[in-house]
Amino acid sequence: MKKLVVITGASSGFGKEMAIMFSKAGYPTLLLARRIDMLNKLVEDNNLENCMVSRVDVCNYQDFEKAINEAEKKYGEVDLLINNAGVMLLGDIETQDPKEWQDMINVNVVAVLNGMQIVIKQMKSRQSGTIINISSIAGRKTFGNHAAYCATKFGVHALTETIRESVASSNVRCLVIAPGAAETELLGHITNTEIVEGYKGWVDETMGGSSLNAKEIAKSALFMYEMPQEVSIREVLIAHTRQDS
Ligand code: NDP
Repeated sequence: MKKLVVITGASSGFGKEMAIMFSKAGYPTLLLARRIDMLNKLVEDNNLENCMVSRVDVCNYQDFEKAINEAEKKYGEVDLLINNAGVMLLGDIETQDPKEWQDMINVNVVAVLNGMQIVIKQMKSRQSGTIINISSIAGRKTFGNHAAYCATKFGVHALTETIRESVASSNVRCLVIAPGAAETELLGHITNTEIVEGYKGWVDETMGGSSLNAKEIAKSALFMYEMPQEVSIREVLIAHTRQDS
Protein backbone atom coordinates (compact mmCIF):
# COMPACT_ATOMS: atom_id res chain seq x y z
CA MET A 1 0.00 0.00 0.00
CA LYS A 2 1.08 3.59 -0.64
CA LYS A 3 1.94 5.92 2.25
CA LEU A 4 -0.50 7.88 4.40
CA VAL A 5 -1.69 11.31 3.24
CA VAL A 6 -3.40 13.68 5.70
CA ILE A 7 -5.56 16.50 4.34
CA THR A 8 -7.02 19.20 6.57
CA GLY A 9 -10.16 21.07 5.55
CA ALA A 10 -11.30 18.16 3.39
CA SER A 11 -15.04 18.82 3.73
CA SER A 12 -15.20 21.30 0.83
CA GLY A 13 -13.28 23.22 -1.84
CA PHE A 14 -9.62 22.36 -2.48
CA GLY A 15 -9.47 19.84 0.36
CA LYS A 16 -12.40 17.87 -0.99
CA GLU A 17 -10.91 17.69 -4.51
CA MET A 18 -7.50 16.73 -3.10
CA ALA A 19 -9.14 13.99 -1.02
CA ILE A 20 -10.76 12.51 -4.11
CA MET A 21 -7.66 12.83 -6.27
CA PHE A 22 -5.18 11.38 -3.77
CA SER A 23 -7.55 8.59 -2.81
CA LYS A 24 -8.21 7.65 -6.44
CA ALA A 25 -4.43 7.64 -6.96
CA GLY A 26 -4.21 4.89 -4.34
CA TYR A 27 -3.10 6.72 -1.22
CA PRO A 28 -4.62 5.88 2.16
CA THR A 29 -5.98 9.14 3.49
CA LEU A 30 -6.96 10.79 6.74
CA LEU A 31 -9.46 13.58 6.10
CA LEU A 32 -10.02 16.23 8.74
CA ALA A 33 -12.60 18.98 9.17
CA ARG A 34 -15.26 20.03 11.64
CA ARG A 35 -18.25 19.06 9.46
CA ILE A 36 -18.02 15.29 9.85
CA ASP A 37 -21.27 14.77 7.92
CA MET A 38 -19.65 16.35 4.85
CA LEU A 39 -16.59 14.12 5.22
CA ASN A 40 -18.74 10.98 5.49
CA LYS A 41 -20.75 12.05 2.45
CA LEU A 42 -17.58 12.69 0.47
CA VAL A 43 -16.32 9.18 1.20
CA GLU A 44 -19.66 7.55 0.41
CA ASP A 45 -20.43 9.53 -2.76
CA ASN A 46 -17.00 8.84 -4.22
CA ASN A 47 -16.47 5.30 -2.90
CA LEU A 48 -13.15 6.30 -1.38
CA GLU A 49 -11.16 3.33 -0.09
CA ASN A 50 -8.64 3.26 2.76
CA CYS A 51 -9.96 6.54 3.95
CA MET A 52 -10.39 7.61 7.58
CA VAL A 53 -12.32 10.71 8.54
CA SER A 54 -12.23 12.60 11.80
CA ARG A 55 -14.04 15.61 13.20
CA VAL A 56 -11.15 17.86 14.16
CA ASP A 57 -10.79 21.57 14.70
CA VAL A 58 -7.19 21.99 13.58
CA CYS A 59 -6.71 24.76 16.15
CA ASN A 60 -7.02 22.06 18.81
CA TYR A 61 -3.54 20.54 18.93
CA GLN A 62 -4.51 17.49 21.03
CA ASP A 63 -7.42 16.50 18.77
CA PHE A 64 -5.30 17.03 15.64
CA GLU A 65 -2.50 14.86 17.04
CA LYS A 66 -4.87 12.15 18.28
CA ALA A 67 -6.51 11.79 14.86
CA ILE A 68 -3.12 11.48 13.17
CA ASN A 69 -1.90 8.93 15.74
CA GLU A 70 -4.99 6.79 15.13
CA ALA A 71 -4.54 6.85 11.36
CA GLU A 72 -0.84 6.03 11.74
CA LYS A 73 -1.71 2.90 13.75
CA LYS A 74 -3.64 1.65 10.74
CA TYR A 75 -1.63 2.96 7.78
CA GLY A 76 1.88 3.73 9.05
CA GLU A 77 3.51 7.12 9.48
CA VAL A 78 2.24 10.19 7.61
CA ASP A 79 4.26 10.79 4.47
CA LEU A 80 2.31 13.83 3.27
CA LEU A 81 0.49 16.43 5.31
CA ILE A 82 -1.52 19.01 3.40
CA ASN A 83 -2.31 21.97 5.65
CA ASN A 84 -5.23 23.23 3.63
CA ALA A 85 -7.87 24.26 6.21
CA GLY A 86 -8.32 28.00 6.14
CA VAL A 87 -10.72 30.90 6.41
CA MET A 88 -10.88 34.21 4.57
CA LEU A 89 -12.81 36.84 6.50
CA LEU A 90 -12.24 39.95 4.46
CA GLY A 91 -12.95 43.28 6.11
CA ASP A 92 -12.02 46.88 6.59
CA ILE A 93 -9.94 46.92 9.77
CA GLU A 94 -11.56 50.17 10.82
CA THR A 95 -14.86 48.36 11.27
CA GLN A 96 -14.08 44.63 11.30
CA ASP A 97 -14.78 42.63 14.46
CA PRO A 98 -11.34 41.76 15.92
CA LYS A 99 -12.58 38.22 16.55
CA GLU A 100 -12.47 37.69 12.79
CA TRP A 101 -8.76 38.34 12.49
CA GLN A 102 -8.08 36.30 15.62
CA ASP A 103 -9.97 33.37 14.05
CA MET A 104 -7.99 33.73 10.82
CA ILE A 105 -4.69 33.82 12.66
CA ASN A 106 -5.66 30.69 14.58
CA VAL A 107 -6.78 28.62 11.59
CA ASN A 108 -4.48 29.96 8.88
CA VAL A 109 -1.28 30.20 10.91
CA VAL A 110 -1.41 28.52 14.33
CA ALA A 111 -3.06 25.36 12.99
CA VAL A 112 -0.46 25.10 10.20
CA LEU A 113 2.28 25.19 12.84
CA ASN A 114 0.34 22.61 14.86
CA GLY A 115 0.24 20.22 11.93
CA MET A 116 3.89 20.72 11.07
CA GLN A 117 5.04 20.07 14.62
CA ILE A 118 2.91 16.93 14.89
CA VAL A 119 4.48 15.24 11.84
CA ILE A 120 7.91 16.75 11.41
CA LYS A 121 9.85 14.81 14.02
CA GLN A 122 9.07 11.41 12.51
CA MET A 123 9.69 12.76 8.99
CA LYS A 124 13.14 13.96 10.02
CA SER A 125 13.99 10.66 11.65
CA ARG A 126 12.79 8.76 8.54
CA GLN A 127 14.73 11.23 6.35
CA SER A 128 11.63 11.51 4.17
CA GLY A 129 8.25 13.19 4.09
CA THR A 130 6.43 16.15 2.60
CA ILE A 131 4.34 19.01 3.93
CA ILE A 132 2.30 21.14 1.55
CA ASN A 133 0.89 24.34 3.01
CA ILE A 134 -1.91 26.06 1.14
CA SER A 135 -1.25 29.77 1.13
CA SER A 136 -2.65 32.24 -1.41
CA ILE A 137 -1.65 34.82 -3.96
CA ALA A 138 -2.63 37.04 -1.01
CA GLY A 139 0.49 35.63 0.66
CA ARG A 140 2.59 37.25 -2.06
CA LYS A 141 0.83 40.53 -2.75
CA THR A 142 -1.72 42.76 -1.06
CA PHE A 143 -5.37 43.34 -1.97
CA GLY A 144 -7.94 45.80 -0.60
CA ASN A 145 -9.82 44.65 2.52
CA HIS A 146 -7.39 41.73 2.85
CA ALA A 147 -5.18 43.17 5.62
CA ALA A 148 -5.63 40.44 8.20
CA TYR A 149 -5.98 37.66 5.60
CA CYS A 150 -2.82 38.83 3.82
CA ALA A 151 -1.03 38.91 7.16
CA THR A 152 -1.90 35.25 7.73
CA LYS A 153 -0.97 34.12 4.24
CA PHE A 154 2.30 36.09 4.12
CA GLY A 155 2.85 34.28 7.43
CA VAL A 156 2.30 30.89 5.79
CA HIS A 157 4.97 31.68 3.19
CA ALA A 158 7.36 32.86 5.88
CA LEU A 159 6.93 29.96 8.24
CA THR A 160 7.11 27.39 5.43
CA GLU A 161 10.34 28.84 4.06
CA THR A 162 11.88 29.10 7.53
CA ILE A 163 11.04 25.49 8.36
CA ARG A 164 12.07 24.32 4.88
CA GLU A 165 15.54 25.68 5.50
CA SER A 166 15.80 23.94 8.85
CA VAL A 167 14.63 20.50 7.67
CA ALA A 168 16.24 20.46 4.21
CA SER A 169 19.24 18.51 5.49
CA SER A 170 16.83 15.80 6.73
CA ASN A 171 15.45 15.37 3.21
CA VAL A 172 12.00 16.61 4.23
CA ARG A 173 10.09 18.78 1.74
CA CYS A 174 8.15 21.87 2.83
CA LEU A 175 6.17 23.22 -0.12
CA VAL A 176 3.65 25.98 -0.72
CA ILE A 177 0.78 26.30 -3.15
CA ALA A 178 -0.45 29.88 -3.51
CA PRO A 179 -3.69 29.92 -5.51
CA GLY A 180 -5.50 32.88 -6.96
CA ALA A 181 -9.28 33.21 -6.77
CA ALA A 182 -11.02 29.83 -7.06
CA GLU A 183 -14.53 28.37 -6.93
CA THR A 184 -14.99 27.07 -3.37
CA GLU A 185 -17.01 27.93 -0.27
CA LEU A 186 -14.38 30.41 0.90
CA LEU A 187 -16.42 33.56 0.33
CA GLY A 188 -19.31 32.11 2.33
CA HIS A 189 -17.99 33.20 5.73
CA ILE A 190 -17.37 36.88 4.96
CA THR A 191 -19.77 38.95 7.05
CA ASN A 192 -19.49 42.18 5.02
CA THR A 193 -21.92 41.69 2.10
CA GLU A 194 -20.59 44.71 0.19
CA ILE A 195 -17.14 43.16 0.11
CA VAL A 196 -18.57 39.84 -1.10
CA GLU A 197 -20.49 41.58 -3.88
CA GLY A 198 -17.37 43.53 -4.88
CA TYR A 199 -15.33 40.31 -5.01
CA LYS A 200 -17.95 38.54 -7.14
CA GLY A 201 -18.17 41.56 -9.44
CA TRP A 202 -14.40 41.45 -9.92
CA VAL A 203 -14.55 37.72 -10.76
CA ASP A 204 -17.38 38.38 -13.23
CA GLU A 205 -15.58 41.23 -14.93
CA THR A 206 -12.10 39.78 -15.13
CA MET A 207 -12.69 36.03 -15.35
CA GLY A 208 -16.06 35.86 -17.09
CA GLY A 209 -17.95 34.71 -14.00
CA SER A 210 -15.98 31.73 -12.79
CA SER A 211 -12.51 31.58 -11.30
CA LEU A 212 -10.06 28.69 -10.97
CA ASN A 213 -11.48 25.16 -10.67
CA ALA A 214 -10.49 23.53 -7.36
CA LYS A 215 -9.51 20.36 -9.24
CA GLU A 216 -6.50 22.22 -10.71
CA ILE A 217 -5.16 22.81 -7.21
CA ALA A 218 -5.59 19.13 -6.39
CA LYS A 219 -3.72 18.19 -9.59
CA SER A 220 -0.90 20.57 -8.66
CA ALA A 221 -0.57 19.06 -5.18
CA LEU A 222 -0.45 15.52 -6.57
CA PHE A 223 2.16 16.51 -9.14
CA MET A 224 4.36 18.21 -6.52
CA TYR A 225 4.11 15.24 -4.17
CA GLU A 226 4.80 12.60 -6.81
CA MET A 227 8.04 14.20 -7.94
CA PRO A 228 10.99 12.25 -6.54
CA GLN A 229 11.73 13.03 -2.88
CA GLU A 230 14.93 14.83 -3.86
CA VAL A 231 12.93 17.30 -5.98
CA SER A 232 11.35 20.14 -4.05
CA ILE A 233 8.93 22.32 -5.98
CA ARG A 234 9.13 24.92 -3.27
CA GLU A 235 6.29 27.08 -4.42
CA VAL A 236 3.52 27.08 -6.99
CA LEU A 237 1.70 30.34 -7.63
CA ILE A 238 -1.35 29.40 -9.68
CA ALA A 239 -4.22 31.55 -10.85
CA HIS A 240 -6.85 31.79 -13.58
CA THR A 241 -5.15 33.09 -16.72
CA ARG A 242 -7.57 36.02 -16.80
CA GLN A 243 -6.87 37.02 -13.18
CA ASP A 244 -5.08 40.30 -13.71
CA SER A 245 -3.95 41.10 -10.17
P1 NDP B 1 -13.57 26.24 1.65
O1 NDP B 1 -14.28 27.20 2.54
O2 NDP B 1 -14.34 25.54 0.58
O3 NDP B 1 -12.82 25.15 2.53
C1 NDP B 1 -12.19 25.46 3.75
C2 NDP B 1 -11.98 24.16 4.50
O4 NDP B 1 -11.30 24.47 5.73
C3 NDP B 1 -13.28 23.48 4.86
O5 NDP B 1 -13.16 22.10 4.62
C4 NDP B 1 -13.43 23.74 6.36
O6 NDP B 1 -14.06 22.63 6.98
C5 NDP B 1 -11.97 23.81 6.78
N1 NDP B 1 -11.77 24.49 8.04
C6 NDP B 1 -11.95 25.80 8.31
N2 NDP B 1 -11.69 26.04 9.60
C7 NDP B 1 -11.32 24.85 10.15
C8 NDP B 1 -10.93 24.47 11.45
N3 NDP B 1 -10.86 25.32 12.47
N4 NDP B 1 -10.61 23.16 11.66
C9 NDP B 1 -10.69 22.27 10.65
N5 NDP B 1 -11.04 22.59 9.40
C10 NDP B 1 -11.36 23.87 9.16
O7 NDP B 1 -12.40 27.08 1.02
P2 NDP B 1 -11.12 26.70 0.10
O8 NDP B 1 -11.17 25.31 -0.35
O9 NDP B 1 -11.01 27.77 -0.89
O10 NDP B 1 -9.96 26.91 1.16
C11 NDP B 1 -8.88 26.01 1.32
C12 NDP B 1 -7.60 26.81 1.48
O11 NDP B 1 -7.31 27.49 0.27
C13 NDP B 1 -7.64 27.90 2.55
O12 NDP B 1 -6.45 27.87 3.28
C14 NDP B 1 -7.77 29.17 1.76
O13 NDP B 1 -7.26 30.27 2.45
C15 NDP B 1 -6.95 28.82 0.54
N6 NDP B 1 -7.18 29.63 -0.66
C16 NDP B 1 -8.40 29.68 -1.27
C17 NDP B 1 -8.59 30.46 -2.40
C18 NDP B 1 -9.92 30.57 -3.08
O14 NDP B 1 -10.13 31.52 -3.85
N7 NDP B 1 -10.85 29.67 -2.87
C19 NDP B 1 -7.49 31.21 -3.00
C20 NDP B 1 -6.25 31.08 -2.28
C21 NDP B 1 -6.11 30.32 -1.18
P3 NDP B 1 -15.14 22.69 8.16
O15 NDP B 1 -15.89 23.99 8.02
O16 NDP B 1 -15.98 21.49 7.92
O17 NDP B 1 -14.33 22.59 9.41
